[in-house]
This record gives sequence, C-alpha cells and structure tokens, in this order.
Amino acid sequence: MLSKGKYRGDKVAIALIYPNQPSVGMANLGFQTLYQRLNSRRDVVCERVFLEIPEYGGTRVSPPSRSLPRSQESGTPLGDFDILAFSIPFENDFVNILTLLSQSGLPLESSQRMPSHPLVIAGGMTSFINPEPIAPFIDAFLIGEGETLIENFLDTYLENREAIGKRDFTALPGVPGVYVPRFYQIDYNQDGLISSRYAVPPAPDRVQKQTEKDIDGIITFYTFPKEASEFSDMAIIEVNRGCPRGCRFCAAGYLCLPFRNRSMESLLNFLKKTRPKEKTIGLLGTGVSDHPDLIPLSREILSLGYRISFSSLRIDRITDDLADILKKGGQKTVTMAPEAGSQRLRDLIRKDITEEQILSAVDTLIRRDILNLKLYFMIGLPGETMDDIHEILALIRKIRHTILTHRHETRRLGRITVTISPYVPKPATPFQWFPLMDLNEIKKRLSWLKKALSKEPNVHVLADLPKWTYIQALLSRGDRRAATLLRRVHENGGNWPRSLKESPLNPDFFAYRPHDTGEILPW
Ligand code: SF4
Repeated sequence: MLSKGKYRGDKVAIALIYPNQPSVGMANLGFQTLYQRLNSRRDVVCERVFLEIPEYGGTRVSPPSRSLPRSQESGTPLGDFDILAFSIPFENDFVNILTLLSQSGLPLESSQRMPSHPLVIAGGMTSFINPEPIAPFIDAFLIGEGETLIENFLDTYLENREAIGKRDFTALPGVPGVYVPRFYQIDYNQDGLISSRYAVPPAPDRVQKQTEKDIDGIITFYTFPKEASEFSDMAIIEVNRGCPRGCRFCAAGYLCLPFRNRSMESLLNFLKKTRPKEKTIGLLGTGVSDHPDLIPLSREILSLGYRISFSSLRIDRITDDLADILKKGGQKTVTMAPEAGSQRLRDLIRKDITEEQILSAVDTLIRRDILNLKLYFMIGLPGETMDDIHEILALIRKIRHTILTHRHETRRLGRITVTISPYVPKPATPFQWFPLMDLNEIKKRLSWLKKALSKEPNVHVLADLPKWTYIQALLSRGDRRAATLLRRVHENGGNWPRSLKESPLNPDFFAYRPHDTGEILPW
C-alpha cells in the first residue's frame, strides 16, 4: 500500500479513477494513456481505481457495496492520495463519482472538504461537453485534451502544493484549460433561466478548451491487458483527432476540432520501432477514414505482417482499395453509420451520404466476402417523422436485397446487426437548441421499428433503453442545480425513478425545453 510519505517521498500520489467497472476502464484508450503519461513523470506516482459494483453499460443495476475503494496496484484507499483524478467519458457515470467519494468517507461537495482531504479533479469528454451538473462535487476540471494540460496543471500544483493543500486554489485558474467552479457565480431568474454568470478574480471569464497543436510529436498507443479478452490481441494507435465533416448531431465531431492527422511517417516509425507483439493493429480516431494516407498506411501495416482493424469508416470512403485492405486485414465485420433512413433526414443532419453510396459500399464489401454488417441508426432526431422511421426499414430491406443478389457467389448469408440509439441533443452542436423528443414518442417509434425488423431474416436488433436517454439528456443539458438531483439519486441507492419523483427540481426543464438562442447556456 502507498502509505503517506513513507514510500512515495515527495512524489505527488494520484488516484486515476474510472467511475465504472474495471473491464470498461481497461478498454478506454484515453484513460490508459493518461495513466502511462502520469507515471512517466519522476515527481508523480499514479495508480488506477475503478468502481467495483455490478453494472451494465454505465447504468447501475444494484445498490453500491459498502467496501472501501482501493487502488488496483497497491490497494491504497482514496483518502491517502494527494489528488483524485476522475476520467468521465459518459454522463451516466456521474452518480458513480458520489458512490466512490462516499464509500471512501470523503465529503461529496467541494465546499465541505478540509485540508486533510485530497484535491478532486475531473476531465474527459463530459467535461468538454458540460461539467456543470457535477460542478459542486469537483474542485477543478481540466477542459480539453489531456497531454499538455495535465503537465501544466501538475507543474502549477507542485509550485503551489502547500497553498493548494490548504484548499487555497487561487493559482489554479492561471493554468489554461483549468476550470475551478468555486470561482464562478451563477444567478437565476424567476423562470429558472440563468440570469448571469460571472467569474470571480483571478478566474478568466471563459475557460478555453485546450487542444494539442502538433499531435505528431505525441503518439497515443495502447495494448489491452489480458482481462479485456475481446481485444487482448489488438494494439491500438490513434491516427487523428477531430473530424472535418461537421455532422450536425455529433458532439465528438465539434468538440474535438480542429481536424489533425498524425503523419504516416511517424505512425510507421513508431510501429517499426516498437514492433507490438499483438496480431492486429487497430487504427483509432474521430475521422479515421479521412486520414489522407489511409490506404498507403494500411498497406504498409499489412506488409509488416499485422492484421488491421478500423474503429469506424465513413460509408463514402469504402472504395475497392479500402475493401481489399479490409479483406486482407482479416476484417469479418464492418461497421457503418447511415444514422437516418431517409435522404431528407440524412441531408438535414448533414450526414452527407446518399442511398446509392450506402448500397454501393455494401456491394463492394459483399463482393469480397465481408458478410457481416453493423449498422447504426438514431431515432428522435430533430425534424424526424414516422415516415423517416419507415424509411429505416426500407433501407435495411434494400441492404438485405443487395446482399441476397450475391448469394450464388457467397453461398451464405452474413448477419446484419442494427443498433438503434435514441438521440440526445448535445451541447456545443448545432442541435443544442432542440429539446429531447418526448420519451413516449421515442418508445412508440422504437417499438414499431423493433417489431418490423424482427420479421426480417438475418437481422439482429440492439437498442438502448429510452429511460437512460432521458437521464443522459438531463445530465448533459443540466446546470449546477442538477447536482441536487444527483445527490438524491446517490442517497436513494441509485434509484432514479424515486429520486425524480421526490426532487423539487423539474427535470423536464433541462431535457424537454428548447433553448432560446439569446439565453445564457450552462455550458
Ligand atoms: S463523420 Fe462521424 S465523427 Fe465526423 S462529424 Fe460525422 S458522425 Fe461525427
């Protein structure tokens, strides 16, 4: 166990916490690369902590256990670290932060912590999107990409260690990208809208999200531990960040801008130098298929003797050349995201792909015996009607028809897995002004589509539960007042229906209210 001061000397002891099950955190590239990066500093010792309760997909299914959370490496309890650093990719994990703090005997609210308590910081995608619903629980957020940001933060922490230890945070807002909620005063109108939001000196009016200008100099690479059985034979390398496409619904596309590519030369140099022992190299990025050298890069990786896998591919990028690479690379299943069934709705969300391109991509893959398709669709998009849902069914039938026309060549049918996700209008996207579609309407559309697709042979349907869509909407669109609801959910052992009923806060105010372009937004 890392005991205070005894083994770690003057090093800063950081608990890097993923507030979900170990199997989920172990497969998260951002979490694992941050862990490696922190431990590469001579003045830091970093250990990982996960939530040890049965869960499914970030959603709690049983009350938390009462056991003391400890780090994986040395079994150190959270209270013995200097810094607790939460990495939070999904809003549905917010309540798990409270579970971990409470199980550790630490005060939940930042304002209640004493000099003897660790500093609690948070980062990850949810901090980019909207940190406000958890602002009262966090001492400081790191907004943006982690590499330079965490280095600058730690340098400032070390220079001001004594003052910060006494909970004097005045040095922290000076670090670009660091948001200290206690330095921001929020006031509300009678109607519940934010009337003013002002920064208390020394905090800046707006905290600027930090991005790495030159990602070529920092290769992000990760191999999975044995426990991640699904991926244990794969090494992941990030090829780009951001996406040039600008689909109107996509938070990742907007929040990770600008679009930046790692050069083929530096990626290959890294792979040749390190020679990963895994059989497959997985190429990861928000816009993998828009990498300017994707084809030559993939061919080089194949020539090094690896199989190859892509995190996602734009449908309009599935050319003969790319399909040949997929085939040679051993890819048996390809994931495609038409997102909407009708051309009208695909144009409205600016997906920028046509039905001809979708069917042509399917044809190109089937000709190479790549028979399994994973298709992603959303329901509840702004402007969607029941006709658009009917068109999802029609499109899937056309895809099946394309597959069947090759049956005499392939002699077998692959599987079409259709994943349907209810859409949540996310902050910082052009659709942020729209409300969540009424949950009953989402349920009606989802149930019609599931029933219709259940009659289609070789089509398997997966769908997110609409209940979690509502919670995700209120947590991604909520302001600081949503923290009171999170606290209640925590006190009720994760029981959302009971907490929503008991809460004086109207959750529909966040989930169902269209935002006026003139109002002050929480994010
Ligand atoms: S292409 Fe994909 S990653 Fe890029 S903006 Fe569209 S949905 Fe997002």
